[in-house]
Amino acid sequence: MIISMRKHASKEEIDHVCDRIREFGFKVHSIVGDERVVIGAVGVGDVTPCLEMLEAAPGVESAVRISAPYKFVSREFKAERTRIRVNGAEVGGDEFIVMAGPCSVESEKQIMEVAEVVATAGAKILRGGAFKPRTSPYEFQGLELEGLKLLAKAREATGLSIVTEVLSERDVEMVAEYANIMQVGARNMQNFALLKALGKCQRPILLKRGMSSTLKELLMSAEYLVAHGNPNVMLCERGIRTFETATRNTCDITAVSVLNELTHLPVILDPSHATGKRSLVASLARAAVAIGADGVIVEVHPNPEKAFSDGAQSLTLEMFRAMMRDLKPYVQLWKESRVTAATV
Ligand code: PEP
Ligand code: MN
Repeated sequence: MIISMRKHASKEEIDHVCDRIREFGFKVHSIVGDERVVIGAVGVGDVTPCLEMLEAAPGVESAVRISAPYKFVSREFKAERTRIRVNGAEVGGDEFIVMAGPCSVESEKQIMEVAEVVATAGAKILRGGAFKPRTSPYEFQGLELEGLKLLAKAREATGLSIVTEVLSERDVEMVAEYANIMQVGARNMQNFALLKALGKCQRPILLKRGMSSTLKELLMSAEYLVAHGNPNVMLCERGIRTFETATRNTCDITAVSVLNELTHLPVILDPSHATGKRSLVASLARAAVAIGADGVIVEVHPNPEKAFSDGAQSLTLEMFRAMMRDLKPYVQLWKESRVTAATV
């Protein structure tokens, strides 16, 4: 069950409701928003009598039964789409958001050059890994703190916001000091200790789908973040493992529509990791616009041949500019369909 308290309900009213819910055998997770407190009652308690009690309890605005195993992130809980403000940009709002940049931050020259180009071409958020999850321990692991500082420098120069990966619970505080959006990579989607720590962090999260994870598992991981206090979660489809070898991963493009039905959270598509090939990125980005994703996250490098990671899927600067030009008419249609969807 999800219980919305009235705006400005008193602390006594909230405590009383929590106590009563516990008496019915539920565990309580509260989310304290700017205006109101929302209480999630989870577990194997007695739903019907508890709902009856809640209808009469002072300070309660509404109490609803949620049948999905993920509660806070479900559409049943909240019909309107979640909009996440990141400085001047809004993810999940009326703009199609492009996040772009190199797989890894490699040097000041590299990140500055990419940042200038992607900002001028219309991206709103700069990506770049400072902590890299690499399959081999012998491959480049990222510049770590130095990389975060370079990202901050690029933000200062261009006005772009920063999305960067946090690999471990231990680094949450450090990464949060520099990032506007904290990325949870595919390999960490079910790192529950990390998710709990990020739940307590106030930065928006970009949660990438694990390469062998179902959408239900993705939503359960998002639920961890929200249940632990962070409602600003964006989901990211980045391709999954299948028997197909022509592409690095298989893009589950329908995931965007499925997620739009099941959750109010914004959905971002990553055509770079989904395909693994730069020649396939622009067309998949178009598909992301057409299917109603809220944005894309794309890898771009000034010299992909020399990239420290993911060169094969990185667009050149010129290819990125061309992709942005080609996306324009599709994004225009996307905007019109958003307006229509919001008004019907
Ligand atoms: C990345 O964004 O560079 C990355 C490692 O992505 P994923 O976790 O989706 O593999
Ligand atoms: Mn990458």
